[in-house]
Amino acid sequence: MLHAWHFVAWLFVGRGTLLGADTTITAKQITRVYEMVRSHHLVDTRSIELLRKTEANHMLSHDPCSARPPLGKGTIMKTKKFLTIVALAICMTLGLVACGRASDANPSSGAEGSSQADASADGEAATEDFYISEITDEIFARIKGKSFKDDCTLPREDLRYLHVLHKDIDGNVHEGEMIVNKHIAQDVLDILRELYENDYPIERMKLVDEYDADDELSMEDNNSSSFNFRFISHTTRISKHGLGLAVDINTLYNPYTKVVDGERIIEPITGEPYLDRDASFDYKIEPGDLCYNLFIEHGFEWGGNWTDRKDYQHFEMPDEKIAEWYPENVE
Ligand SMILES: [Zn+2]
Repeated sequence: MLHAWHFVAWLFVGRGTLLGADTTITAKQITRVYEMVRSHHLVDTRSIELLRKTEANHMLSHDPCSARPPLGKGTIMKTKKFLTIVALAICMTLGLVACGRASDANPSSGAEGSSQADASADGEAATEDFYISEITDEIFARIKGKSFKDDCTLPREDLRYLHVLHKDIDGNVHEGEMIVNKHIAQDVLDILRELYENDYPIERMKLVDEYDADDELSMEDNNSSSFNFRFISHTTRISKHGLGLAVDINTLYNPYTKVVDGERIIEPITGEPYLDRDASFDYKIEPGDLCYNLFIEHGFEWGGNWTDRKDYQHFEMPDEKIAEWYPENVE
């Protein structure tokens, strides 16, 4: 299709009708080009008819009854030249449109071009579904006074919003949102994209603000999240979730537990059945699985490896990184 248009454009330029003073093209030739255009279905019929009418009015009509005075030879030649330019412009425009369509049809020609439907078809995640954004006013309005508490000492500029896709255990695709620290935004985005592309199940990924920043409610709903500002108890140091430098995945099935004064604490409280890590159940994180491996590869530590407590849902940046990025936050 594209070649046909290039041929038509070449026909006009090649004849010297556009650039040369000698206008040799005839109305018959223009009509033939119109027919070519129509036969290739490259322009809608209405446009062709419009051009035909223009041609008829300006070049062929010598009707003495017409209000328009008869055209002299010089005027006809100028009109022919004008029509030639118009026809050439149409040819070039349609040629460009054809080029654009050809590009759209080729998924490898532009990362921006593919849609979510394309992504589902070939199993690849589309760029526009996985992105990082600064905390816009709109996003900030959602977190202010909730995860971004009134006493939040972390600058808003240090946070990033992630938009991703994730799949639940049945393979249903969901949109996911997460707010993390700027230092790990790209890593977390890459991890979540790879989990999605490999069908690793994540049930829910909403901002904790949708639970009024209540961790227990979020965990009971098996929500995966990161940023929720808080200080480490009885200190002015910010916790790793408070810095957006820790990520919790599939929280109901991967609970936190610790024994304090002989009493076992479980968070969420409804996660108790999943403390038995030898049992088999959906959404369970285990050493060596894809989720575990990806976070470890990207420099995170897993709370399931701790000895004084277990936090099976939890991946965090090591203390050395906190010291590097937030030295004032270290004891
Ligand atoms: Zn955590």
